[in-house]
Amino acid sequence: MAVLRLSGPQAGVALTALAGRLPEPRRAQLARLRDPATGEVLDQGLALWFPGPRSATGEDMAELQIHGGRAVVAAVLGAVLTVPGLRPAEAGEFTRRAFLNGRMDLTEAEGLADLIAAETQAQRRLAFAHAFGHLGQQVEAWRGRLIRAMALVEAGIDFADEDDVPAGARALAKPEVAALLEELTAALADRRGALVREGALIAIAGLPNAGKSSLLNALARREVAIVSDEPGTTRDLLEVALDLDGHKATLVDTAGLREAESRVEAEGIRRARARMAQADLVLWVHDLSDGPAPAEPPVAAEAPLWLLGNKVDRAAGLPAPVRSWAGHQLTLSAARGEGLEELTGALSRFIAERAAGEHPALLRARHRASAEEARAQIAHALAQWDRLDDELLAEELRLAARALGRMTGAIGVEDLLDVVFREFCIGK
Ligand code: GDP
Repeated sequence: MAVLRLSGPQAGVALTALAGRLPEPRRAQLARLRDPATGEVLDQGLALWFPGPRSATGEDMAELQIHGGRAVVAAVLGAVLTVPGLRPAEAGEFTRRAFLNGRMDLTEAEGLADLIAAETQAQRRLAFAHAFGHLGQQVEAWRGRLIRAMALVEAGIDFADEDDVPAGARALAKPEVAALLEELTAALADRRGALVREGALIAIAGLPNAGKSSLLNALARREVAIVSDEPGTTRDLLEVALDLDGHKATLVDTAGLREAESRVEAEGIRRARARMAQADLVLWVHDLSDGPAPAEPPVAAEAPLWLLGNKVDRAAGLPAPVRSWAGHQLTLSAARGEGLEELTGALSRFIAERAAGEHPALLRARHRASAEEARAQIAHALAQWDRLDDELLAEELRLAARALGRMTGAIGVEDLLDVVFREFCIGK
């Protein structure tokens, strides 16, 4: 089956021209579709009519559900395009029009793009919440509170002659603005949404030959890394995207962290360290045939560090858990595939716990930049609170509100639209 969607003032004209008449609004109706020029029946299908503004784009919309064959689609599309004023839509144009007509805010449009692109169930759930206003409502609530605080401060300007009003109103606004600062700071620190959208970054680290590439291969179930007995063969970062029980994770094999012998390897090590610094979790692979794991973690990582004792098939007797490692400890054999299920289970539980809960997260760099700008502006306003006069203080708060407004598209976003809607495909 194919669906043709038409939007704009000519949608009704085109539908009438092909189907003979307009169906009852929002009800599917069986219709013979004719070429308006020749009268030839091109196909039989379902016609729907959504008069604006109660439509997806806010404009008049028509939809034709027709047979999916190439010739049928070409014939019906060709006939539709003979109607003056109609042209093929650009990528994301339906969503863009919906935004411009106030049917959705910018975060919802982004959520829709994410929903279409979602690969895992966790991504789908998060994107769905965004597509239907989760973040947008939160941001509008923040902005509303700022605007109220601004009005209180401005009350001081309007009633400048009445002595008690200014001080009283400003005093009322201050705790509200301080609370907002705390909420924005917490939202910026919250990585849960990004963890779901972009996936958890899991770095595999360890000495050369510990079995890092073998582990990556075993988890990816395909050959992506070169496994060799030669220390230092993993010259580049190798990344694999995994779906761990509905959670996206990116696994990075870091180059053997040791003194570099060649420049290429030094670069690999530099990048490995940088990637490890961003990781949500570091897996330290230790070769058990070299003896027990070191008592202390050999690298400092901000993220939790798990100890994986590899080559358990070669180790005589299992070593006792190392007490000083705070994180999880597992033994496995990457080469034989032993202990991998336990590992993937632990990984997916780790991500699920971190990503837990329904939360209006700041998902994208764009959201974070707006929130950060608003946060900095509010912090500045609070720091200057008693020194600034009412007008300047109100202006500071207005700038913070503007920064938030850009996130939902309530304010000045013309320059952003191309960036946001470029992600969509035709027909969305
Ligand atoms: P890396 O340098 O840490 O990436 O280590 P590799 O994955 O290249 O592995 C180094 C060597 O150890 C290779 O010869 C692997 O076949 C071998 N190896 C990896 N895992 C195991 C294992 O679980 N058992 C045994 N016996 N050998 C392994």
